[in-house]
Amino acid sequence: MKFQPVIGLEVHVQLLTNTKIFCGCSTKFGASPNSQTCPVCLGMPGALPVLNRKVVEYAILAGLATNCAIAPRSVFARKNYFYPDLPKGYQISQFELPICIGGHLDIEGEWGTKRIGITRIHMEEDAGKLVHSDIPGMGSGSGVDLNRACTPLLEVVSEPDIRSADEAVAYLKKLHQIVVYLGICDGNMEEGSFRCDANVSVMPVGADKFGTRAEIKNVNSFKFVKQAIEYEIERQIELIEDGGKVVQETRLFNPDSGATRSMRGKEEAHDYRYFPDPDLVPLVISTDWVEEVQGSLPELPEAKFKRYQEELGLPAYDAEVLTADRQLAEYFEACVTAGSPAKAAANWVMGEITRKLNEEGKAIAACPVTPQLLTALLALIEKGTISGKIAKTVFDEMWATGKEPAAIVEEKGLVQVSDTGEIEKIIDEIMAANMGQVEEFRGGKEKVFGFFVGQVMRASKGKANPAVVNEMLLKKLKG
Ligand code: ADP
Ligand code: MG
Ligand code: ZN
Repeated sequence: MKFQPVIGLEVHVQLLTNTKIFCGCSTKFGASPNSQTCPVCLGMPGALPVLNRKVVEYAILAGLATNCAIAPRSVFARKNYFYPDLPKGYQISQFELPICIGGHLDIEGEWGTKRIGITRIHMEEDAGKLVHSDIPGMGSGSGVDLNRACTPLLEVVSEPDIRSADEAVAYLKKLHQIVVYLGICDGNMEEGSFRCDANVSVMPVGADKFGTRAEIKNVNSFKFVKQAIEYEIERQIELIEDGGKVVQETRLFNPDSGATRSMRGKEEAHDYRYFPDPDLVPLVISTDWVEEVQGSLPELPEAKFKRYQEELGLPAYDAEVLTADRQLAEYFEACVTAGSPAKAAANWVMGEITRKLNEEGKAIAACPVTPQLLTALLALIEKGTISGKIAKTVFDEMWATGKEPAAIVEEKGLVQVSDTGEIEKIIDEIMAANMGQVEEFRGGKEKVFGFFVGQVMRASKGKANPAVVNEMLLKKLKG
C-alpha cells in the first residue's frame, strides 16, 4: 500500500515590539533573570493587562501580507493550564475569535505553484522560561525566569494542505521571509523568534479521510523541520504496515538522533477550558485602521520578484537572489533609481558587493559604497572611460576610501585607452617581438589570438579598450 502524508503547521512568530503585549516591560533578549518584569507579567493577583497597540498593528500587517481577512471584532481568551513558568495559571491567547482568518500563501517548487491555506492568525503572550543550571548564589537547581513572560507572539495556523517535508519547508521559508520583510520579527530561529509545531499524519493514497496526527513541538530550524517530518512520516508508515495504529500525541524531535519521541499522549492532553478574558474588552478594529496599515505594507518579495522580471527585465535567478533580503533589494532599487542599468546593477550587487560583504562579515546596510557611487562607477564603464576590469580596481578603492569613482580614476591614471594610435603602437611592438606566433596565426592556428590580446592588455596595464584591441589586432594579424 502507498501512503500520502498530510501536514499542517502551527508557527509561533515573536514580535519585534519594544515592550510586552500586556505591560510596559522591555522585551530585550538576554537581560539578567527577572529584571524585566512587573506585577502584570509576574501574574500578581489584581494586576490588570493593557493591550499593546503595536502588537495589533503587527498582527494586521501579518494578516494582510498572508491574504487573511481582518476580523472587525476579536476576543482574548484564557487558556488555562499549570506550569511553573506561567504564574497566572493561564495564558492569554485568542480562541474562537482570532484577529486574522482565512488566508493563504503560494509556494513554488518541483510541484509547480501550490496554495497553502492559512486557517487563522492569533495574538498571544509567551510564557516564562525554566532555567536548569547553576543559579548565582543558590548552587545548582532550577529557576524561573519571567523576562519572556508576556512577550507578544503571533500563532499562524495552516490548513492541512501540505503534502511533503519539502512543501512544509517552502511554506515556512515563505512565511519567515514575509515576517522579516514586514519588520515585525527578527526571524532568529536559534533564539526561538520563529518556531514551528508540525502536525503530521499519513493515509492510504486515494483515501478521503485523513489519518490520526502526531504533533511535533517547537522545531527551530528549516533543516530540523525537514528531518523531523521525514522521520515522522516513515515512523507512521512502518507502524501501520506492522499492523499498528498511530495515536494522537505530542512528540519531541531530537536533533542529535534525528528521531521523534513521544512526550504526552491524548489521555494527558489538556482541556484548556478556554473562556473570554474578563480583564480585556473585545478588540474592535475599524476599517480605517486596516486601510491605514494596508497603506504602510511594503512591497513583498513575491511582488518584487515578479516586477524585477517584468519591468526591469532581470532573469528569474537574479530576481530571486535580490529579493531574498529586503535590504539587499532596497539597495539594488536605489541603484536603479539613481540611474544604473538594472542588469549591470544586479551583476555588481550579486557579484562584487556580495563578495566584499561576505569577506568582511558586513550587512548591506553597512556597505561603504553607496548606490550613488556604484551608479557613478557603472556610468564610467558605460561611457568607456574605464574597462570592466579596471572598474574592479576602482571599486576596491571606493570600498576602502568612499571616494567618487571619477576622482579615483583621475588620481590613479586609470582612464581607458581607446585612442587607436596609441593602441596601434603597442600592437606593432608586440607583433614585432613575436613574429613566430604571427606566422602561426597566419598559418591557421587561430588560438594564438588570445595570446596577443593578453600581451597587448598587459602592455597597456589593463587600460586598453578591449573592443578596440580585438578589432585592430584581428585586422593587423590578418595582414
Ligand atoms: P491543536 O491546538 O490541537 O494543535 P489547532 O487547530 O490549533 O489544534 O492546529 C491543528 C493543526 O493541525 C493545524 O495546522 C491543522 O492544519 C493540522 N491538522 C489537522 N488535522 C490534521 C491531520 N489529520 N494531519 C495533519 N495535520 C492536521
Ligand atoms: Mg497545536
Ligand atoms: Zn511586565
